[in-house]
Amino acid sequence: MTERVALVTGASRGVGKGVATALGACGWTVYVTARGGVTPDEPLGQTVSEINASGGAAVGVSCDHSDDASVSALFDQISAEHGRLDLLVNNVWAAPKGFGGFSDKFWERPVGDWDTLITVGLRAHYVACVEAAKIMVPQGSGLMVNISSFGTRGHLHSVLYGMSKAALDKMAFDMGHELSGTGVAAISLWLGLIQTELLMSLGIEEFAGFRLDEAEHPQFVGRVIDRLWQDPSLPQRNGHTLVTAELGAQYGLVNNDGTPPKSHREPFGGGPLFPPA
Ligand code: NAP
Repeated sequence: MTERVALVTGASRGVGKGVATALGACGWTVYVTARGGVTPDEPLGQTVSEINASGGAAVGVSCDHSDDASVSALFDQISAEHGRLDLLVNNVWAAPKGFGGFSDKFWERPVGDWDTLITVGLRAHYVACVEAAKIMVPQGSGLMVNISSFGTRGHLHSVLYGMSKAALDKMAFDMGHELSGTGVAAISLWLGLIQTELLMSLGIEEFAGFRLDEAEHPQFVGRVIDRLWQDPSLPQRNGHTLVTAELGAQYGLVNNDGTPPKSHREPFGGGPLFPPA
């Protein structure tokens, strides 16, 4: 197989953009989505330009992941244009209006937060996995990756944030169970703190107790996913929750500044992840 086709959802900025551009540099054909347009002066169009400039091949698709029909049309487009899908990175995520992170208690927030943090941060991933499985299972191969976080274990940002992340880990486990024997794997990935454009623009030295200069570059996450896809032990890891920094160490990958990122497993309580290793 010469062409590897990936879809990274929510790739106009942040983690998704970094993952997509790193996959492009690794030679992938990368479909990228966000709600805006794809002209070069728009954020998603800029992601497309960066992927193409790095040696990959990008296709930008304007898609609202809270609209099932749009998501279905996206997968139809991938099927029609390439007839295959090798990697799905479920990254799309939306902050509710006025989201105050650590400062707000759940009873102080509008109940409507559910519609962003759960609908876009969880349901959209389930929908994408359903559509991806319809391509990957007949093809007999493929990897679905959920972008999760240590919010699964410790309190991070909000109740709904943690709920959505815990559900993503369980979703990968149960999908992995049902995918067993098909050649397709589902994985949940715990990222560390990420050097997103937003966080780097704030002029802060640390966030949630972690140093920003030691945080993971979003492209590091993409390189880890590329190597995970190639990993001969992937079938044995199907359904597991894994840590980007720990996978990076196993694969000999480093951050963009040449240093190995540290796992946040111990600061969040240590021990085995879900499911138990
Ligand atoms: P972000 O900067 O807010 O990016 C979210 C992306 O999703 C954007 O490209 C946005 O594009 C897109 N999006 C939002 N709603 C959409 C919708 N309805 N349909 C299509 N696209 C939509 O978020 P981030 O910080 O990169 O975080 C991404 C993921 O990484 C989250 O799951 C987060 O929990 C996880 N994570 C982040 C960190 C960190 O330190 N940042 C650490 C661990 C895990 P448009 O607005 O242009 O549509």
